[in-house]
Amino acid sequence: MLNQTNVKLGKVRSSIRELFEYGKQRKAEIGADNVFDFSIGNPSVPTPDDVKKTLIDLIENTDPVELHGYTSAQGDYSARSAVANQLNAKFSTELNADCIYMTCGASASLTVTLNALLNAGDEVIAFVPYFPEYKVFCGHAGGSLIAVNCDGNFQPDLQDFKAKLSPKTKAVIINSPNNPSGVIYGEQTIKEIVSIINKSGLPIYIISDEPYRELIFEDTKIPFIMNYYDKSIVCYSYSKSLSLPGERIGYIAVNNRAPDFGEIYSAVLGAGRALGFVCAPSLFQKLIATCQGATSDLSVYRANRDRLIEKLTKFGFAFAKPCGAFYIFLKAPSGNAKEFAERAKQFEILLVEGDSFGCNGYVRLSYCVSPDMIERSLPAFKKLAISYNLI
Ligand code: PLP
Repeated sequence: MLNQTNVKLGKVRSSIRELFEYGKQRKAEIGADNVFDFSIGNPSVPTPDDVKKTLIDLIENTDPVELHGYTSAQGDYSARSAVANQLNAKFSTELNADCIYMTCGASASLTVTLNALLNAGDEVIAFVPYFPEYKVFCGHAGGSLIAVNCDGNFQPDLQDFKAKLSPKTKAVIINSPNNPSGVIYGEQTIKEIVSIINKSGLPIYIISDEPYRELIFEDTKIPFIMNYYDKSIVCYSYSKSLSLPGERIGYIAVNNRAPDFGEIYSAVLGAGRALGFVCAPSLFQKLIATCQGATSDLSVYRANRDRLIEKLTKFGFAFAKPCGAFYIFLKAPSGNAKEFAERAKQFEILLVEGDSFGCNGYVRLSYCVSPDMIERSLPAFKKLAISYNLI
């Protein structure tokens, strides 16, 4: 018999992927311009010109055998040391190349990290709303995801966090800026999370999932977890910041201040090996070695956010103000997310029903789309609001 867990996973798409596929089909039926697809976090802003030029230069001027060959399992030294240097310059850490493991994006960073840390039966805490794949990744690593509630502004409910900690808790995942709410956890929140863990006396790891680290639209700083907690691991991806989601490139950074740093890094190497996640794409590792600090033009997302906030508020929709990432988590006017997403579809607006994010009664709107599509979608949003008597 086949592994039934995997058969089941393969048969049921995530709600995001399901809607993304529906959107492709609907665009073929009625024309792309007539579908307002806010389903997936696929950046609409192109990768920067410098990145494109570097790629061309790498292809034209690097020995092809080297360019397309295997790198070290954990990644090329030059890519890993460029990452470490960039983190040190930005966050005053003292990392080196041997703290970094190059991966195929944040998904691989998370699965490798969770497989490195978890034993069967371990629990991993995530704050709702959370990226739905966390559940899948934890399950595959032999653990289970424990959801901690949030308040009305999607900030962690720290009393619930305290109550859910137990000797089974192996790790806590933090994702800020957050997918799907767009909220940021401030320094005080991070300090309180750390203080609760410290007071518990439990040997817990904090995993910070940071694909949206650079996508901040308010004058606020994202606390870098390594500066607050030693047993910490950062999972990063260039999918969003450099608009390279299809190229699959990211990294794991293990905090070398962790008392068991050597063991953690060995476990990361071991998990990467066991999962076959060795030797991330060579061309993109070489790119990363030279393009540290670059980002796509993220101002487009800020403009999209501001325009949507203005209009959706005017139309009577309710949501917590997103400060980063490129998502808005809209409250379903009827309280029923499925019904809201289905009704939005009648107006050709594609929104992901949010129950799978661990938070009932919301839908996710992904605004990393063209400003033009946002303008074209506004009359449809207005009609949707009217259908609920919001205006
Ligand atoms: N973590 C979060 C919070 C995400 O939103 C995503 C992708 O949207 C990922 C991880 C996976 O990122 P990647 O595409 O780099 O694997």
